[in-house]
Amino acid sequence: MTGPAFRRILLKLSGEALMGDLPYGADPERIAAIARQVKFVADRGVEIAIVVGGGNIYRGLEGAAEGMDRATGDYMGMLATVLNALALQDALEKVGADTRVQSAITISEVAEPYIRRRAMRHLEKGRTVIFAAGTGNPFFTTDTAAALRALEIHAEAILMAKNHVEGVYSADPRVDPDARFIAEISYREAIEQRLAVMDSTALSLCMDNNLPIHVFNMDDERNIDRIVCGERVGTVVRSG
Ligand code: UDP
Repeated sequence: MTGPAFRRILLKLSGEALMGDLPYGADPERIAAIARQVKFVADRGVEIAIVVGGGNIYRGLEGAAEGMDRATGDYMGMLATVLNALALQDALEKVGADTRVQSAITISEVAEPYIRRRAMRHLEKGRTVIFAAGTGNPFFTTDTAAALRALEIHAEAILMAKNHVEGVYSADPRVDPDARFIAEISYREAIEQRLAVMDSTALSLCMDNNLPIHVFNMDDERNIDRIVCGERVGTVVRSG
């Protein structure tokens, strides 16, 4: 059995990754499958922090499109990520993984507040830490939260889980049959070509701090473990 290539990783799960094939909300089977993967990798001694999205429930931009104040919509989006975080915590605990949720918005009855040093201590003790409520600021996304938290806790890589696609393509493979799979790309190229890795604020943060991003298909239950073992899976984004 190969030893892990990473000691500490940050896994970004978009709301879509929790949705499975449902049109809305979170699929319990899908969340249970994710929990099994996380537990398996954690049992290898890899420290895992997770940032969850909320797009399966609510996005601030949707509210803004209907005339709502953008910041209000974004706070609703952040609360949606808290729902996902609790569902994921429940699933992780069911498979026996010690888990803590830390929220960027204070909701002390349901989650710890985000305290960087405390999060790192949890990780050192082998607990999986789920970061909820994104950055805590409107006009940002959970992709940016993933980049920010990964840097703060000194994660060695971000693992970006995608639904039904293997990684990054030259165009959307679900729409364009000529879309070409890209195994490796630089941050700058990904930003310039506006490829679907993460949003540009998040990508710039990774680029400025040289944090590698592994984009992979969540459908294959072995993928997180493979990446952690140093296998080439999906797309790697790093400096060119
Ligand atoms: N959001 C925010 N600030 C953050 C993170 C998230 O305002 O730091 C809001 C924003 O409205 C976003 C929603 O929360 O649309 C859900 O997050 P996101 O769209 O990033 O989720 P994902 O696409 O990963 O499911």
